[in-house]
Amino acid sequence: MKIVMLGAPGAGKGTQARMISEKYGIPQISTGDIFRANIRNQTELGQKAKSYMDQGLLVPDELTLDLVVDRLAQDDCSNGYILDGFPRTIPQAEALTFALKSQKTKIDYAIDVEVPDDNIVQRMSGRRACPGCGATYHIRYNPPVSDNICDECGTELIQREDDKAETVQKRLDVYHKKTQPLIEYYREQGCMYSVDGTRPMEDVFEDICKILK
Ligand code: ADP
Ligand code: AMP
Repeated sequence: MKIVMLGAPGAGKGTQARMISEKYGIPQISTGDIFRANIRNQTELGQKAKSYMDQGLLVPDELTLDLVVDRLAQDDCSNGYILDGFPRTIPQAEALTFALKSQKTKIDYAIDVEVPDDNIVQRMSGRRACPGCGATYHIRYNPPVSDNICDECGTELIQREDDKAETVQKRLDVYHKKTQPLIEYYREQGCMYSVDGTRPMEDVFEDICKILK
C-alpha cells in the first residue's frame, strides 16, 4: 500500500501518517524529518536545506528527489509506505510517478487532510516536536503526559524554528501556490481522497481507515 499525505503545513499529515504506520506496519517517510535530521547531524545537505526551511521556502527539487528515490529503495519499503511531506511540487509528483512506473507500480491513495488556513495558524503555534524520535504534540489538543517531555522517548520537546508565526504565513502561501495543485494531479490519476482534518485526530484517523479498505 503506497500512500501520499497531502494538506497544508500543520494540517495533521504527520500525526495521521504515524497512526497509519503503526496500524498497517509500513514506514512513514517524512522529507521534513529527513532534512531536520541532516541539520542536526550538520551534513552538507542539512546546511543547504536549512537556509530554505528557515525562510519558509521549499528545498529545491534537485536536493529532494534523489533523497526520496534512495529512501524508497530500502528494504522496509517493500510492502509500501506513507509519504508525508512529499511530493510538494508538480515536478516532484511527476518524478515519483516516473520512478514508480519503472517498477510497474503506482501510488494507491493520495489523502488530503483539509484544514482552513485560520485553524492552521493555531495548530502551528501550539505544535511541539520531539527531536529524538519525531513524535509531534500540541500543547492543547495533544499534550504529552509530563510537561514538555516526549511520552515515547523522554527527550525534551522543542518548538520548530519554522513554526514561528511570521514563517507560518509564508509556508501557507507556498503551499497554496506550489503544493495544492497536486490535488488535481492525483484526482486525474484516480486515487485522490479527502478527509475533514478539523475533527479530533482519532476521528480523522477513523475516516482514513475507511478509505484504506
Ligand atoms: P503536518 O505534519 O501536516 O505539518 P502535524 O501532524 O505535525 O502536521 O500537526 C500539526 C499540529 O496540529 C501538531 O501540534 C498536532 O499535534 C496538531 N494536530 C494534528 N491533528 C490534529 C487534530 N485533528 N486536531 C487538533 N490538533 C491536531
Ligand atoms: P515539514 O516537516 O513537512 O513541515 O517540512 C518542513 C520544511 O522542510 C518545509 O517547509 C520545506 O522547507 C522542507 N521540505 C520538506 N519536504 C519537502 C519537499 N518534498 N520539497 C521541498 N521542501 C521540503
